[in-house]
Amino acid sequence: MTEPLIKPERGPRVKPPRAVTPAERSAITVYIRDSVPDKHKIATERALLKQVPRSVAIKTKCLACCNFDREEVKLCAVYTCPLNPYRPYQSAAAAEESDDAEQDE
Ligand code: SF4
Repeated sequence: MTEPLIKPERGPRVKPPRAVTPAERSAITVYIRDSVPDKHKIATERALLKQVPRSVAIKTKCLACCNFDREEVKLCAVYTCPLNPYRPYQSAAAAEESDDAEQDE
């Protein structure tokens, strides 16, 4: 069983952590300790340990990609990224536009 780096209260949507090798655990610990702002440590760890829904994992990935700046995620113009249509913080209009494009396919 993998011990969480941070031991927050468990919410209703938080699943048990997936099994990880010691090398994965070490890499996750170092990444979170050295590269993730305090505000995002718990969500990032949960996403990396597959304890949260995919939508939260996508949000975590986009935030990490944009140096944890919500505004940068919102403005992301990397249309070749497969996560782009699913990224968080899009305006309602942009999200609708994305849905329309998907239905046209
Ligand atoms: S959609 Fe944009 S912010 Fe999200 S992972 Fe892709 S490039 Fe990064």
